[in-house]
Amino acid sequence: MSTDPRRQVPRTDTLLADGQIVPAVERLGRLLVKDAIRTVQERIRAGALPPVDAVPAVLAELPATAAALRPVLNATGVLVHTNLGRAPLSVAAVAAVAAAAGTTDVELDLGTGRRGPRGEAALAALRAAVPAAEAAIVVNNCAAALALVATALGQGRELVIARGELVEIGDGFRIPELLESTGARLREVGTTNRVTVEDYTRALGPDTGAVLKVHPSNFVVRGFTREVPVGGLAAALAGTGVPLVADIGSGLPGPHSALPGEPDLQTTLADGADLVLASGDKLLGGPQAGLVLGRADLVQRLRRHALYRALRVDKTTLAALEATLRGPLPPVRRMLVADVAELRARAATLAARLVAAGVDAAAVDSAARVGGGGAPEHPLASAAVSLPEEHAARLRAGSPPVVGYVEAGRTLLDLRSVLPEDDEALATAVLAAVAG
Ligand SMILES: *Cc1c(COP(=O)(O)O)cnc(C)c1O
Repeated sequence: MSTDPRRQVPRTDTLLADGQIVPAVERLGRLLVKDAIRTVQERIRAGALPPVDAVPAVLAELPATAAALRPVLNATGVLVHTNLGRAPLSVAAVAAVAAAAGTTDVELDLGTGRRGPRGEAALAALRAAVPAAEAAIVVNNCAAALALVATALGQGRELVIARGELVEIGDGFRIPELLESTGARLREVGTTNRVTVEDYTRALGPDTGAVLKVHPSNFVVRGFTREVPVGGLAAALAGTGVPLVADIGSGLPGPHSALPGEPDLQTTLADGADLVLASGDKLLGGPQAGLVLGRADLVQRLRRHALYRALRVDKTTLAALEATLRGPLPPVRRMLVADVAELRARAATLAARLVAAGVDAAAVDSAARVGGGGAPEHPLASAAVSLPEEHAARLRAGSPPVVGYVEAGRTLLDLRSVLPEDDEALATAVLAAVAG
């Protein structure tokens, strides 16, 4: 009998035909399973694994899904965390996505058998959530909404915008550069810290395509400052025929008592904006999307523009958006209103379990944040579990990975960005990563 380990390495075809591996091929596809087989064969060849253990080793090596994106527990205290996928979808939205993922009636009227309006139910849900909107459309994200508006209303014309609202949203995404890339000219008014109604009205002329207000989502200007609110600007523009477009960034449907300074879709339109733009995956708590609501004639102009076709969303986004609007309160807004006494109790429970397992842990008060460019100066009272700093990397390497943050030499796991139904998964993941 040969002692050459290469002769004993199970063949790829043999493993692919194994009764336990065949279902994995059906679930994940041959490519991923063959990758796992190759890894295991190398371990056997290197003498690190007995050949008889090949099948269980391949099964252990397989990814959970055919995509590399993994679920992560967000204990950063940042409710809308861009690096963690922004708003987590509600259970209702996830179910709607799954239902719409196959063949679906997104553009078919099943009653008549004829073509129907695309995503009509999601648009109706938006109008119902924002009664001041005559009409709505949905595009890929808020940046796409801005690009569409700037192209349709501003190409070859001027967009009037305050200097203090020439915002960089994050990671090099600068709104003025996006606007200019569409062929619109920016007519900047006011100074960095101050702008008046007269600054705007003086800038109006035959070339004006629109007046644009952009919410400075991720910073505040303090001191000798002045801005013109939507209401004041709308009054000044009345009768000029110049549309007032407001990009509020975060898409709260209406005013929210936890965030009194945050603009919302309904109030912005009621105050006189002709169009309001927002993201779907910030405080609205839904899928990535750009929402455009307001005057029916302007929305129609955008919908008819050739660029709209390149920016429209798919059936799963429409499904998730509708379920977010019509279904139970989405996770982000549940987190926003979580009671701090409950957060403290949850932190105490988790800390006690960790201490009982010999971990250096304590429940502490903390400050959470909205994130995603919302309410930058508005800390949310919260509670966290404090652990030794060096646990941060171990927690990120865990299963599922847990992402906290490091402050003053301790790793903090903030519970406001974790839903209570995920506490058990969090405890299990933390114990597995750091106990013993
Ligand atoms: C976040 C934000 C955007 C960009 O939104 P996306 O949906 O990420 O494209 C645009 N404008 C403002 C004011 C924002 O806060």
